[in-house]
Amino acid sequence: MATAAGLIDFVTGAPVAGSLDVAWNHGAKPASAEPPIQVHAFDEHTFILRQGKWVSREAPFLYLFLGNERALLLDTGATRDAAQCPVRETIDGILSRWLEAHPRDGYELVVAHTHGHWDHVAGDPQFYGRANTRIASRGLADVQAFFGLTGWPEQVIQFDLGGRILDIFGCPGHHPASIAVFDAWSGFLVTGDTVYPGRLYAPDFAAFVASLDRLTAFAHTHGVRHVMGCHNEMTTTPGRDYPMGARCQPCEPPIQMTVAQLDAVRDAARRIEHRPGVHRFDDFIIYNGPCRWGMAKLVARGAWMRLRGG
Ligand SMILES: [Zn+2]
Repeated sequence: MATAAGLIDFVTGAPVAGSLDVAWNHGAKPASAEPPIQVHAFDEHTFILRQGKWVSREAPFLYLFLGNERALLLDTGATRDAAQCPVRETIDGILSRWLEAHPRDGYELVVAHTHGHWDHVAGDPQFYGRANTRIASRGLADVQAFFGLTGWPEQVIQFDLGGRILDIFGCPGHHPASIAVFDAWSGFLVTGDTVYPGRLYAPDFAAFVASLDRLTAFAHTHGVRHVMGCHNEMTTTPGRDYPMGARCQPCEPPIQMTVAQLDAVRDAARRIEHRPGVHRFDDFIIYNGPCRWGMAKLVARGAWMRLRGG
């Protein structure tokens, strides 16, 4: 809804009834059958993007939230090369179409990251030199300074996109500088690689459990509708994941998870808190600690799949 001044009201009517009815890129053959980056509009101000399986076997999801004054892009994907995956061009296209419909001057783009692993930051250089753009660095101190997170990780700060307020707080465990981002307009709680339908690697398990406690407490006290992670590695068969690096994943569950599933991750993590190793559950798999043996098995399974042409 837009006011007379052209300001969009992101408060009345939140959360918006957006669409998650989408068939995601999953590595269909031939490679040309799928775009290098797929764009899905949840609503006209909220976008979910997925890099193609043929571009990167990680096929991460990216999130773009637009407010009245600026947009936030969470993650830039696993590919630096714009010719291979034009992340910048794709975002520029979304923003210019949006600005045609909602004209305003000096619109800013903020590029930040769910966490600093390479498959979420590799596309950053595509945004270097872009006008009206701020890019957060990936280190813990940089992330804290960028968002003003002085009470890490518990403090929840408000990041204003212009009438669209995001809540941001730390959720370390998978990565020391992981953040969670809640958008009341879409009801999305973006959890990065901390919670998603797949293998949840938690090298710092104590921090991971504490983060899950805060994520669940937050979800139950704020209107979280969808828990949005950055990868999908499960199949629709309970407890069964695709091999690491699988190119084709035709039977993925939805990327969006429920608050009940988030609770299940927290409950599972608490149950196995003192049992390092790999623990398999219906909708996710938890790697408690470095899991050298579990990781070796995972790598071997992926190598075997590739030998057989996967
Ligand atoms: Zn990742």
